Amino acid sequence: MPFDLTTAMQERAEQGLLRKRQVLQSAQARFIQIDGRNYLNFSSNDYLGLASDPQVTEFWQSALLTWGAGSGASPLVTGYSKAHEQLETSIAEWLGVEAVLLFSTGFAANQAIIKALLEKKHIQWHDRLNHASLQEAGAQSPARMRRFHHNDMDHLASQLEPETGLIISEGVFSMDGDQAPCAQLAALAKLSGNWLMLDDAHGIGVLGEEGQGTLSHQGVSASDVHIRMATFGKALGMAGAFVAGSRSLIDYLINFSRDYVYSTHMPPAQAAAIADVIQLVRKADDKREHLQSLIRLFRQRMHGIGLNLGESETAIQPLIIGDANQALSLANQLRAQGLWVTAIRPPTVPKGTARLRITLTAAHQQEDIDQLCNALEKGLCNG
Ligand SMILES: *Cc1c(COP(=O)(O)O)cnc(C)c1O
Repeated sequence: MPFDLTTAMQERAEQGLLRKRQVLQSAQARFIQIDGRNYLNFSSNDYLGLASDPQVTEFWQSALLTWGAGSGASPLVTGYSKAHEQLETSIAEWLGVEAVLLFSTGFAANQAIIKALLEKKHIQWHDRLNHASLQEAGAQSPARMRRFHHNDMDHLASQLEPETGLIISEGVFSMDGDQAPCAQLAALAKLSGNWLMLDDAHGIGVLGEEGQGTLSHQGVSASDVHIRMATFGKALGMAGAFVAGSRSLIDYLINFSRDYVYSTHMPPAQAAAIADVIQLVRKADDKREHLQSLIRLFRQRMHGIGLNLGESETAIQPLIIGDANQALSLANQLRAQGLWVTAIRPPTVPKGTARLRITLTAAHQQEDIDQLCNALEKGLCNG
């Protein structure tokens, strides 16, 4: 037997880390149905509640009539259509960048950037808490990998070498909800002559003017960041991702990124629908404000109960439990009360920091927050 799967699975199970998928029997929304039961959903990245929004599904349906189902080819063959080009242009205009490239997933976009750019002579500096898609690409790249303590600019500065590579951080950290100090990252990149890449999967649509993301929220100019990546699968309620930067960066990726060149392009109807969603998101201050008011309410209530949630001002509100089995047991208690919250365990998060990753969305109502806080208070006080 070349592969010993049984032992690996047994070890996982013994550590309480076995993973199982849950089958959703409903659309992704405020309420989800699992095993025939309805739950209030505190476990999606659909931060603006758009994944099953009637307007958004209408966008996709009407785009299908024009563009058909599939793209039929990779982008350098015949898979690149007017719908893709228009989406690229509208993102560039929205974010104030020169050029944009589309990918079918954020995971692929991060692989593409890191693999196409970094060679053996380069160094990559990662925030320790960077998403798995960044770390995975980094680990496979021939460039040396350095990790700096989370958001610790002194630690990063002590590692930097002039003009040798790429500093990589998330804008909003996916498991903690806190933000990178973007102005300081940009200043360090500039000072050391290195490039800065920001993965804004959790900032796009939610933060900043017209939902432009973390940079806009922090008042950092788009031109201070060399590479920006974000996904359509979170606040935008769809799927896919983009890379934004200079015209020369995008032209380089079109020529040298194997992940881009040898992969069937995203369906054009999807691209057309995403372009419509972006127009909607730019004007969705009401949704962003409603979400912010829910976040404030949740934090006030948790503070009142005496629970510390950390620094997050975003839709991601982690409740750190520590022990993986305890986090699971609390998630199960909440489920018994009709609340769906996912326990996140190592290796997704560092050992000893298992947590409930609570996510709020603009689809929630105040009463949902009350219900969650009451259940958490009960669950945590009963041990
Ligand atoms: C979700 C996520 C990705 C991956 O994007 P997909 O479109 O889901 O593949 C990349 N980076 C971060 C920070 C993410 O949260």
